[in-house]
Amino acid sequence: MPFNPCLQCGACCAFFRVSFYWRETSDQTPNGVPLDMTEDVGSHYRAMAGTNKTLPRCIALKGIIGHDVSCSIYENRSSTCRLFTASFSDGQYHEDCARARAKYGLSELTTKDYEETPPLSPSTAPSIAG
Ligand code: SF4
Ligand code: SF4
Repeated sequence: MPFNPCLQCGACCAFFRVSFYWRETSDQTPNGVPLDMTEDVGSHYRAMAGTNKTLPRCIALKGIIGHDVSCSIYENRSSTCRLFTASFSDGQYHEDCARARAKYGLSELTTKDYEETPPLSPSTAPSIAG
């Protein structure tokens, strides 16, 4: 079964401000983004709490970046999260994925990163305290 390298990354969830149209939140949309995990960033947008900071980290991101991560609201994540694309998950290189990974000392993805499940390494990868 193809491996999903995002499960051992999470860098993009602690690199960008993750903003989206305000009506995507749970008070406006069934199964939307939990309102209490977001913050106001303007008249038409909200952002995931924790991502509008100098050292961003989404409040929903669990685990250690570069080692073992998950999104605690995966089924309810915003369109911004759903549209963000890991390099070569669609056969194409994506600069934003590479930029986020570089911040955490992670190399750019290649097609080989999808081929097999690598063993988990000791928990020594860089992370931002969250
Ligand atoms: S909601 Fe989930 S996928 Fe989106 S930035 Fe936060 S942790 Fe990442
Ligand atoms: S930076 Fe790229 S590889 Fe890492 S979690 Fe985001 S999309 Fe996946």
